[in-house]
This record gives sequence, structure tokens and C-alpha cells, in this order.
Amino acid sequence: MTGKGCGMDFDCDLFVIGGGSGGVRAARMAAQRGVRVMLAEAAALGGTCVNVGCIPKKLYSYAAHFADDFRDAAGFGWDLAPARFDWRRLKANRAKEIARLNGVYEGLLRDAGVELQRGWATLCDANTVQVATGDTAKRWRARHVLVAAGGTPSVPHFPGREHVLTSDQMFDLDPFPRRLVVVGGGYIACEFASIFNGLGAQVTQLYRGEQVLRGFDDDVRAFLATEVRRHGVDLRLRVDVEAVDRSADGLAVKLTNGETLAADAVLYATGRVPNVAGLGLDAAGVQLSAHGGIVVDGDYRSSSASVYAVGDVTARLQLTPVALAEAMVVVDRLFGGGERDLSYEYVPTAVFTHPNASTVGLTELQARERFGAVRIFRTDFRALKNTLSGSEERTLMKLVVDAASDRVVGLHMVGPDAGEIVQGFAVAMKAGATKAQFDATIGIHPTAAEEFVTMREPVPS
Ligand code: FAD
Ligand code: NDP
Repeated sequence: MTGKGCGMDFDCDLFVIGGGSGGVRAARMAAQRGVRVMLAEAAALGGTCVNVGCIPKKLYSYAAHFADDFRDAAGFGWDLAPARFDWRRLKANRAKEIARLNGVYEGLLRDAGVELQRGWATLCDANTVQVATGDTAKRWRARHVLVAAGGTPSVPHFPGREHVLTSDQMFDLDPFPRRLVVVGGGYIACEFASIFNGLGAQVTQLYRGEQVLRGFDDDVRAFLATEVRRHGVDLRLRVDVEAVDRSADGLAVKLTNGETLAADAVLYATGRVPNVAGLGLDAAGVQLSAHGGIVVDGDYRSSSASVYAVGDVTARLQLTPVALAEAMVVVDRLFGGGERDLSYEYVPTAVFTHPNASTVGLTELQARERFGAVRIFRTDFRALKNTLSGSEERTLMKLVVDAASDRVVGLHMVGPDAGEIVQGFAVAMKAGATKAQFDATIGIHPTAAEEFVTMREPVPS
């Protein structure tokens, strides 16, 4: 053991544990304010989002979309030679881009003056962090510690659990799975089912509940289920896995309905848990919630006065922009004017299925519970492009309006580029736009997005 022990001067003003979305943003912003910052990262810089999350997922989603584009092209006069997909080339190009981003993150920290420590960080007490690499370990005294350790996939216990994969392993699978079983009905299960279906796998998605994407608007859930099935995903509801066995034909997936599916790979996308094991949180007096996340107050301060936490490790909204925003608030509270605030209302989100589902604000059910009287505007249509492409894909758009104030409190879409469209409307929603203001807005013609400002007749209640 080298380095310094407890009871000495502080080595830094802020010690950040975790070089993912939240940690890098906090470290960079704090260092730019002239304070001494150290950051420990045990794996690749950029965390989940850059290495095994948003970015590689979206790249693979783009790859999968070409299947639709090639099919759609014929109606527009294009004859293409039979398209061939090279999984190895996609993986190699993705790996190259992610390595580039790892370097960008390192550069951002270096340029801001953050001292990077490679290794596993543990709290020895509320102001001491130990970083271990191989068989060496160093200790640092920190005025404040920010835990931004993220989360990790969680797989339930069942016979054959050792044969299944999580999203972490999907990006580098070898060989490409011809038959893929996806378990779960959340973001990751739905997105990966669409992606691997688009890339050419035969995908069966199993969800234990009544409908996928619990927590989303019911119309969105039902509409998306129809659309992903139309695209070729064999989505099965009210069914779960009993056991997975190795067989002569790959894997045998035994279902609760008595059926057995043959598969080359089984992806479990059954939620993620906070990375709290081995962090020494007990030693620092940091308490955890029933969900296993670090409990924080409105300042992101834990039960230990010098320890803060942001992002997935708090087991709340697990989204990159949320982790970034939380990090900025912590830095502002600790080293700035303390004016920055963060509201968890009207956080937009998109599920990158094919087609996308995207939403901001309340579901119809939530709005009815909160406001009583609501007006619902809903349209579903076959997009202009599909008149020539021949695709039967349909688009859904829905507005939920508080009848008393006329404020648009929920905006939902299933359709191509829904994430891009909803991001723009999220600003109006955040600003409290009313339905009358939506109506007064001129559309951009011909787009799908214009439907959000041209819906006039509420759905009869
Ligand atoms: P992370 O980014 O996970 O970073 C935590 C870092 O801490 C990791 O690098 C880890 O190695 C390090 N670490 C942990 N413990 C220690 C320790 N003791 N010592 C040193 N280092 C440590 N969100 C979106 O908004 N949009 C998306 O499209 C999206 N897609 C996703 C797709 C997938 C497949 C997954 C899994 C997630 C996706 N997310 C998406 C969620 C998003 O990735 C996370 O919400 C975000 O990365 C959380 O950031 P974070 O800083 O809290 O943690
Ligand atoms: P989610 O919480 O979104 O979904 C988990 C799914 O697994 C749910 O359908 C849940 O069912 C099901 N499930 C949970 N436990 C079991 C079990 N024991 N057996 C069978 N099914 C089970 O988690 P994900 O893993 O999909 O993603 C984690 C988080 O990462 C997301 O919540 C999201 O915040 C973030 N993310 C964001 C993305 C984006 O912004 N586009 C993309 C990917 C991830 P039930 O509903 O019945 O509980």
C-alpha cells in the first residue's frame, strides 16, 4: 500500500468514482471552475452509454434500419442487388468508433485538468478513496466524493441462467445469432428485438406481463406491439422462461406455457441494478434505498455529508441526459452559484425500436388521475413515404390535454424518427404550451410532425 492515510490535508476538492456519463461531466465541469478534481475509472472511459449502451445500440439500430430502406427502395424505382449483411464488419467499425470516443473522453478530462486514476475505487471513510490497480493501491483524501458508478444488468435466478446473455455481451456476439430469444418487455428487450430482427435474426421476444413497456401510454404500448410484429418480431405476451438447457440444436428454452424454443442465443433484458458492491459505502455511512440505489436528497447528497451520488447508481431515472443534468447540478451546488435546478417532470424519452416510440409528459391514465377531465387527440396514419414503398407500417400520434388549463400534458408518438420529433416538442411542453398554442402553430408540410399541430377533434370520451 502506498499513498496517504486518513487525517491529512485534502488531495482534491472533488473525487469522482466512475468515468461514465455523470462522472465525466461532473469532473470536467468542476475542473473548469478551477477546483482540484480526481476521477477513478476501473474500465473504459465513457461508461455504459459509450461502451455498451446508447451509442453502440444506436449504431446497430442504424445498421438494422437498412433492411427496411432496401425493401422500401423498390417502390421508388431502385433495383438493388441482393443485400448481404456482414456482422463482423459492423462489429469492427463499431469497435473502432467506440475506441475513438474513449480517447475523446480521456482528452476532455486531461484538457480540463482532471487527474485520472485507472483502477477500482473504494471508500475507506467519508473523505478517503482508495484506488486499486493490480496489486498496488493508493489512498486519496477528498473534500467531497461523487459516486457515479452506474449500474449493471440484473438476471433472475432460474435453471440454466449460466447459458443466457445480457446486453453487455450482445455487441460482440460471435457468431451472429440466427435464432435469438429476448426476455423482457422494457427498453433494452424491445430495442434489441428490433435491432436483431432488422439485422436478419429470427427473433422471439417473451414478456411476462400483459403488454410491453409498462409505464408508457397504453395506446403507445399496444400500437408498438402491432408494429414490431409487422416488422417480423415474434412478440409473445404473458409467458416466461422456466429453464434453459444446452441441446444438440443450440439452446432449448423451456417456457411456462409448456412450449420449448430452439435458440442460438438468449438475451435477458430484465432490468439493471446499481453498481454498489465493493464500493465501501458502509464504511462511509452511505445508505441505500429498497431498490439498492444510493439515497440522495435534493442536492444529490447521500446520508454521508461529504458523499454525493448521481446517475444510475441512485436507481431512479436511468437515462444519460438525466445523469448529465444531475452532475451539473452537483457541481453548481458545490462550486458554483447554486442556482441550477433540475425537474424530473417532462423528461422526454425514446425507445429505439423499429419504429421508434417516444414520449414526453403524462400518459392518458396518469393525466386522468391527476387532473380528472382530460381531452385526448389521437391520429394514426400510413406515412406518405409508404404510399410508394408499399410498407404497411403506420404512425401513431397522441396528445393528452388537461381540460381545465388547456395545457398539453402528454405527447406520444410511435413512428419513424419519433425521438427526433418529440425532442423538439419537449421544449414546448416544458414551457407549458397549451393546445390553443399548438393549434396556432403552422405545420411544416409535408411531414409527419405537422400532425401534432393539426389535430382538431378530440377523441369522444
Ligand atoms: P455509467 O455510464 O454506467 O458509468 C459508471 C462508470 O463507473 C462505469 O464506467 C464503471 O466502470 C465505473 N465504475 C463503477 N464502479 C467503479 C469503481 N468502484 N471504481 C472505478 N470505476 C467504477 N440512456 C439514454 O438516455 N438513451 C439511450 O438510448 C440509452 N440506451 C441504453 C442502452 C443500453 C443497452 C443500456 C444498458 C443503457 C442505455 N441507456 C440509455 C442508459 C444510460 O446508458 C445510462 O443511464 C447512463 O450511462 C448512466 O450514466 P452513469 O454515469 O450513471 O453510469
Ligand atoms: P426496464 O426496467 O426498462 O425493463 C425490464 C423488463 O424486464 C420489464 O419488462 C420487466 O417486466 C422485466 N423483468 C424484470 N424482472 C423480470 C424477471 N424476473 N423475469 C422476467 N421479466 C422480468 O430495464 P432494461 O433492462 O430494459 O433497461 C434498464 C434501463 O436502462 C431502462 O429502464 C432505461 O432507463 C435505460 N435504457 C434507456 C434506453 C433509452 O433511453 N432508449 C435504452 C435502454 C436502456 P415488468 O414490466 O413486468 O416489471
